[in-house]
Amino acid sequence: MSLRRSGITDTAVLRAIERVPRERFVPASFQDRAWDDTALPIEHGQTISQPLVVATMTAALDLDERRKVLEIGTGSGYQTAVLARLVRRVYTIETIKPLQDAAARLLEALRIHNVTMRHGDGGLGWPEQAPFDRIIVTAASDGDPPAALLDQLGEGGIMVCPVRRSISDQMMVKLRRENGKIVSQDLLPVRFVPLVSRT
Ligand code: SAH
Repeated sequence: MSLRRSGITDTAVLRAIERVPRERFVPASFQDRAWDDTALPIEHGQTISQPLVVATMTAALDLDERRKVLEIGTGSGYQTAVLARLVRRVYTIETIKPLQDAAARLLEALRIHNVTMRHGDGGLGWPEQAPFDRIIVTAASDGDPPAALLDQLGEGGIMVCPVRRSISDQMMVKLRRENGKIVSQDLLPVRFVPLVSRT
């Protein structure tokens, strides 16, 4: 895999990705493809994101060790692990309990201890822990990013979120809160599973 050749220059991000054993997050039947630059299926009809997309989203968040990050869509826990290598604490929410439990076991095995998990609808955010410096959404929302999440983004904060623009098109969007206003920028076309609310 050559993230560098694909234009990822943030060395802290590249190092964090190198230090997370992606093969541990990929099901046994896809082991030989664990490091291919492609999304792969995990349990319960979900996917582990493509390495280049993980790298691009992580770099766009402009992270450092002082940051407190909210992640929506724990899935395999792969993106969570990459984030945890870069910041003070990661709060992550997943709707599918068995996925959350598997991710928790894996992070424990990898001795990643700065992650707090919650089972529930991440579209509602985590009000008790708000505001967040950074928010990353790894499931696609319809049209606009969830309003509750933008509300929980602190001043100067950055959020990345895939949004569905039409039946077949999704865009990874970077949003920044500057002087109380939200400034938005398109990053790259993506393909994520939908953000579902199970309330
Ligand atoms: N970051 C993950 C990608 C997981 S795919 C990884 O690296 O493996 C997206 C995940 O979002 C799925 O596990 C799905 O169950 C979860 N999801 C979908 N809607 C959600 C919601 N409203 N709240 C929390 N998680 C959600």
